[in-house]
Amino acid sequence: MYTDMKTILDDAVKHHYAVLAGGAFNMETIRGLIGAADAEQAPVLILLGQNMIRRHAHTEIIAPMIRELAEETNVPVAVLLDHGRDWDMITQTFRAGFSSMMVDASAYPMEENIARTKKVVELCHAQGVPVEGELGHVGAAATLDGCDESMYTRPEEVREFLEATGVDSLAIACGTAHGKYPDGFVPTLNFELIRKVRSMTEVPLALHGTSGAGDDNIRKAVGAGINKVNVATEIFCACRDFMKRRMEEEPEIEYLQLCVETEQHCKEFCRHLIRLTGSSGKAEHFKRQYRFGRSVDRALLDGAE
Ligand SMILES: [Zn+2]
Repeated sequence: MYTDMKTILDDAVKHHYAVLAGGAFNMETIRGLIGAADAEQAPVLILLGQNMIRRHAHTEIIAPMIRELAEETNVPVAVLLDHGRDWDMITQTFRAGFSSMMVDASAYPMEENIARTKKVVELCHAQGVPVEGELGHVGAAATLDGCDESMYTRPEEVREFLEATGVDSLAIACGTAHGKYPDGFVPTLNFELIRKVRSMTEVPLALHGTSGAGDDNIRKAVGAGINKVNVATEIFCACRDFMKRRMEEEPEIEYLQLCVETEQHCKEFCRHLIRLTGSSGKAEHFKRQYRFGRSVDRALLDGAE
């Protein structure tokens, strides 16, 4: 079922679990991700970054495809622009029917962050599209930004940011960073900071830059109060490494076969991530809300056969 991020994450807050927000930009990764959610009976969020859309996944093609694939499963699926920084990308994905939005003005000082985030919230809320904002700044793994505590979310700013912007979920900076960490590096997360922010609000909390953070850190972050776990780089690396391995094993492998197998590998990899978030089986919570939805109509039709 195609739904929005708020519907999914509010349930995660209520029942103390997190949902995988996975990066995906083509049919194989999107089907792999939704297939994993279906197999785990878990809600799932699909992330598309500005770069992915500009370089490959044009919204007029990708938005209808995601919607169609979402309607084929009974688990809740939402799609959002990840780190929306440019107004043209925000309006483009909004018009294309993305069910959710993230605006990232975290590189600006607090006041400017609030103003830019609020502008997106006003646009999106008019159409019932929920918005995530970012407070503190999740930087780049390659330069070990996650170690820079001056970039972490300041709990004393949280209330003001939430009240002034009206965002539906909040990305916090607490030790992780985007992209691939140097080999052998495992980030140290400030779980106390997560707990502190969690104790201040019922707004869903998002952990970005989770690729390569390690299973243990993910479990602990969810335990401390994270509700949305963003993973993109690690999914893409898993797919690439799998393709590389298969091509080494079988240099003349048919391209179609390689794509089919890569999707299957993507699915298995995402199932593991979903299990770490604690969202397996949680699709059950959403059945009642969607009893008149198209997906359930299909389920009823299947049952009548
Ligand atoms: Zn991010």
